[in-house]
Amino acid sequence: MKLTAVPPQEPLPDWLSASFKDRRLIGNDQIAEVFDEIADLLEIDDANPFRIRAYRNAARTLRALTFELAEIIARGEPLPKLTGIGVDLAGKINEIVTTGNCALRQRLRSTLPPGLVELLSIAGLGPKRVRHLYHDLGIETAQQLCEAARQGRIRHLPGFGEKMETRLLSAAQKGIGSDRRLPLAFVEPVAHRLIEYLQQLAGIEEATVAGSLRRMRDTVGDVDLLVAAAPSVNVTAHLLKHPEISTVLVKGRTRASVVLGSGLQVDMRIVKPAQFGAALVYFTGSKAHNIAIRQRARTLGLKLNEYGVFKAEECVARATEVAVYQALGLVWITPELREDRGEVEAALTGRLPRLIELSDLKGDLHAHTRDSDGGNSLEEMAFAAQHAGLEYLAITDHSRSLRVAHGLDTDRLLKQIDQIDALNARLQGMTLLKGVEVDILEDGRLDLPDDILGRLDLVVGAVHSHFGLTLHQQTQRLLRAMDHRYFSVLAHPLCRLINERAPLNMDLPAIIKAASERGCCLELNSQPQRMDLFDLQCQYAKDQGVLISINSDAHRAADFSYLRYGVAQARRAWLEKHDVLNTRSLTSLKKFLRDGGGGRPQSAQN
Ligand SMILES: [Zn+2]
Ligand SMILES: [Zn+2]
Repeated sequence: MKLTAVPPQEPLPDWLSASFKDRRLIGNDQIAEVFDEIADLLEIDDANPFRIRAYRNAARTLRALTFELAEIIARGEPLPKLTGIGVDLAGKINEIVTTGNCALRQRLRSTLPPGLVELLSIAGLGPKRVRHLYHDLGIETAQQLCEAARQGRIRHLPGFGEKMETRLLSAAQKGIGSDRRLPLAFVEPVAHRLIEYLQQLAGIEEATVAGSLRRMRDTVGDVDLLVAAAPSVNVTAHLLKHPEISTVLVKGRTRASVVLGSGLQVDMRIVKPAQFGAALVYFTGSKAHNIAIRQRARTLGLKLNEYGVFKAEECVARATEVAVYQALGLVWITPELREDRGEVEAALTGRLPRLIELSDLKGDLHAHTRDSDGGNSLEEMAFAAQHAGLEYLAITDHSRSLRVAHGLDTDRLLKQIDQIDALNARLQGMTLLKGVEVDILEDGRLDLPDDILGRLDLVVGAVHSHFGLTLHQQTQRLLRAMDHRYFSVLAHPLCRLINERAPLNMDLPAIIKAASERGCCLELNSQPQRMDLFDLQCQYAKDQGVLISINSDAHRAADFSYLRYGVAQARRAWLEKHDVLNTRSLTSLKKFLRDGGGGRPQSAQN
């Protein structure tokens, strides 16, 4: 990411600058996950309740920290005194950070049946219930759970009952053979750790991700890895030694499939360096794209497969992707576009878009502070945004009716406006914009009065309640909100949460049409579980002339790193720099907002 030429007036706080240096260190969250799993396993094992609670408390402490313990360890400094973390747990933290693993967890995993961890992931099943299922009925797997439920044997266990039995049966059935996809941002760091690990082995020439991960789809099923190495190099043996691996499904000289402790499946292919390009095209996909380029090969009298491009029996290209596409008369197509949505024709006729890049973003129009449900102060967020290469940041805390998020009423928002003015006078190379993420109420009214909204630089509106309205009601609600004179950006328009909440039931084309007529912008929200709008919808909005704002919705200083995923989604939507509002300079953005773009009428000039 680019950095601004003007350094911040004051040096970055230590914890903040450190957290940007090396994002590959094991984070507090990951250590907390290990502790939680240990607590679960101890509980199933009927261990001392005090010991179990110690691990749970430690996990909670770790998640609340604002600095990364791994960085302290990396600097060779002793860990600070932390509530609930004594000598023993500090030793475990050291072990996890330095080895990526924990001997106690390994021991517990190996003494208990492996299926129990899987049972824990079934909705409604905590360690207490799993302990009963295991000790009282000998249930070790989801399959056995289903059988026992069908036979009515579970309802008699203490704390279960008939209702619970029915619920568990349906939850367990869903879990079996389900192809649950995880948010890209959760999977990508894991894959990068594996790639770095593989690259340590001498004789590996290339190691990279493939599949939907390389195409940066918003969700990822399995991790696909592709390695180029001479046949004499035993890549599989090296992979199997990785500490995160819990189950081996397939192991061979040219491929391996494993499951990580987190449940994520990893498929690795090993090819000869000479055919790496053809294999990379093949394993990156998508299937639809591969079919389209094979068709293209056939029209040229060529044959394309994972080993290369062939003319009769002779191989004409295979070493690099560029060579493979070139042999097909195409320029190289960036992986994000490989979905057979017109990219092959565009490559053929030189009409591929100049896709937006992360460094094109000049600002971020959606972020929170401690004033509502964020974790950092105004100043910390400003520095973090600048450190992420941005020149402006809109502060958009929640409004009053979102009580769980400690939303702002008029008085508190006025106070924040004054604080932003004071801070802007001190900041160099970074400007905070005054905004709000105002709740769109059930009937489409906004949650704050016009006189306060009119004093802001921009108004980001969003739905945080009443997700279940009918299609007509939901559409009318959003249209009414966007009709408001001060409405600038519709945030996370679909309100979906990956694996948790389905998109709102609404007439999106009508919303997009209204946005285009009103000069409102739609957000592409980069939070890992949101990634909202979808790529195709984003592309449709662009085609209808609606500007997109790619925002982090940052709740913590480190969250600006999510912009990377929003930009990836935008690239999948064929967005170019000029399609995105926050690629504009501050001057141009302010003019846009003043002149009625973003819904703001002339009369609201200030
Ligand atoms: Zn929101
Ligand atoms: Zn938000």
